Amino acid sequence: MIIDINTIIEEKKMNLKKKIEKLNNSGIYPKLAVIVASDDEASKIYIKNKKKICDELGILQEEYSFISSTSEDEIISLIKNLNEDSTVHGILVQLPLFKHLNKFKILDSICYKKDVDAFSRNCSSDIYLGIENILPCTPKGIISILDNLNVAYEGANAVVIGRSNIVGKPIALALLNRNCTVTICHRKTKDLEKYTKEADILIVSAGSPHLVKANMVKEGATIIDVGINRENGNIIGDVDTKEVSKKADVTPVPGGVGKMTVISLIENLVYITEKETK
Ligand code: NAD
Repeated sequence: MIIDINTIIEEKKMNLKKKIEKLNNSGIYPKLAVIVASDDEASKIYIKNKKKICDELGILQEEYSFISSTSEDEIISLIKNLNEDSTVHGILVQLPLFKHLNKFKILDSICYKKDVDAFSRNCSSDIYLGIENILPCTPKGIISILDNLNVAYEGANAVVIGRSNIVGKPIALALLNRNCTVTICHRKTKDLEKYTKEADILIVSAGSPHLVKANMVKEGATIIDVGINRENGNIIGDVDTKEVSKKADVTPVPGGVGKMTVISLIENLVYITEKETK
């Protein structure tokens, strides 16, 4: 079966609208600051999608774009000002950055309370310690999908393909925090199939078109396809959805985890705003 993401999204939007209205009624207007320092084409699409959902839900946003000659200090100085600005509740640095910029230094300058993407060292170590105040947006979206499906976490074999800091590692930790038995696979894994065939929950974030085929998955498994690949003008995932959906539940691409990631960002922003303005 192909997992229905739209129903989850609509429910979340309704919930968020109520929360935002309540904040507005108290004179609080959640605001997101987005910092862009790259000319990455995919980032432009993500930013557009984020802007669209902010507009739909009545979230204020400010975008700060930097040119390629920008220094780290310039960006960090802006972030310091935004950290102090009480009208800004969340700060997001769109990745990737221009190559000469040190992303760790920049991300770590966002104050803990406003780190809406949870990519700073402090937020990352929270997840490691099993504290999940804020999860990075894509792993948060994945957990929302699994929760919505009432997936039984305890003791489940969860396999994660990909070990990126933004998806693979945090989702592996989030699943471990939910008592799954977690295996992380990556490019150097020998015999990938051996692991995927045993997975009750399979998260695929490899960026490799149709890497996971029907013969590699367990009957009845829950599969989350994070991959976004452009092929012949189409966007396809890391899973051969058409064949795999005949024996397991799988999220669609496009319109799956990508949509959940954007809604999770707003959930994080609203959570931060509520917490800071209580
Ligand atoms: P990445 O691109 O930084 O790294 C890919 C990871 O997959 C690496 O750890 C690599 O070892 C592993 N990998 C690649 N090919 C493999 C193979 N054949 N077998 C086993 N492991 C393999 O990872 P990322 O940033 O998580 O991005 C992965 C994909 O997810 C990309 O297509 C990206 O566009 C997409 N993405 C989507 C969203 C979303 O919201 N839907 C968010 C982030 C990333």
